[in-house]
Amino acid sequence: MEQLRAGVHYPRSTGEFQAWFRTDEDCLDYLEWLRWPGGFTCPRCGDGTGWRLGDGRLECAGCSSRTSVTAGTIFDRTRTPLTVWFTACWLFATQKDGISALSLQRSLEIGSYQTAWAMLGRLRSVLVRPGRDRLAGTVEVDETYIGGDEPGLRGGRAPGKKVLTGIAVEVREPKGIGRCRMAVLADGSSASLHPFVTGHVRPGATVITDAWMGYHGLAGLGYVHQRRSQRAARARGEDPGELLPAVHRVASLAKRWLLGTHQGSVDEAHLPGYLNEFAFRFNRRRSASRGLVFYRLLELAAGHDPVRYRDLIVRQRSKAPPAPPGTRGHPPSLERPGANRPWRAAEMQLRLPYSG
Ligand SMILES: [Zn+2]
Repeated sequence: MEQLRAGVHYPRSTGEFQAWFRTDEDCLDYLEWLRWPGGFTCPRCGDGTGWRLGDGRLECAGCSSRTSVTAGTIFDRTRTPLTVWFTACWLFATQKDGISALSLQRSLEIGSYQTAWAMLGRLRSVLVRPGRDRLAGTVEVDETYIGGDEPGLRGGRAPGKKVLTGIAVEVREPKGIGRCRMAVLADGSSASLHPFVTGHVRPGATVITDAWMGYHGLAGLGYVHQRRSQRAARARGEDPGELLPAVHRVASLAKRWLLGTHQGSVDEAHLPGYLNEFAFRFNRRRSASRGLVFYRLLELAAGHDPVRYRDLIVRQRSKAPPAPPGTRGHPPSLERPGANRPWRAAEMQLRLPYSG
């Protein structure tokens, strides 16, 4: 595809977003363009010719199979109108801290909390692009407990709802922070930490850690390993808590976001999705256009397999899973016909008895 242009391929502002996506049809057409920018290609046989049926589906000229624009994407069979989906995506991508399920439910008139929660869960599940680049250059790596207030013991049982989380952050010279990655760890052993590093940091990078023995052996995995000792820092009169300033900055931002936007109500089973959401937004914080972040999100969503409701809740252990959204939860479409200036109409009604 030609280079993406603001105002042509993605909206520049909330005003433009509203002007572009006034109807569910507009949204469907945008998804069709995202999926098949060069025209329809049959997902079954790869044939490039087909025609549109009366119900909007497309029929392949090669194998006669029929498909819809949303089939095989996370928008498939969710019964949520696309105007609602698009607005949720816009808020998710453009709000500095994203949006909570409760705010989404209220602002889009979604009938049930579960429906709003499941929409955000589906969006979170598409954020990790297969084959995405690993971090490079100089990378600080550490692990921390996320999800509670009290400090936890390393590698031991997490008290309360705390989950041991690996954090890797690119450090830019002379100062500054690049991209980050976060993932839940089983424990603080090298059997957990080594795969975290190899999965998120490109070999050849300089990896900076503290002196914890779980990081022993990184040099043998193709990294330049720099270890910073707390004791040495203390001896130099430095703050040992500032040994790895970039990871500590990112960890505190992530914890603040979970406590703020989500009021800390994230259970262990869903923490990985929230960590991916945090990293998705953090890594695009310098993007010139929020509209481009919206485009990237829809591109991931349109290219992702459907996510079933039971897949969203399947790994939840601690609490009873929320009931699947019932029909009551169907949000109304956000298609908006002209409202005909109700403030003037009200004035007219008030005047009528007098003007007659
Ligand atoms: Zn075909």
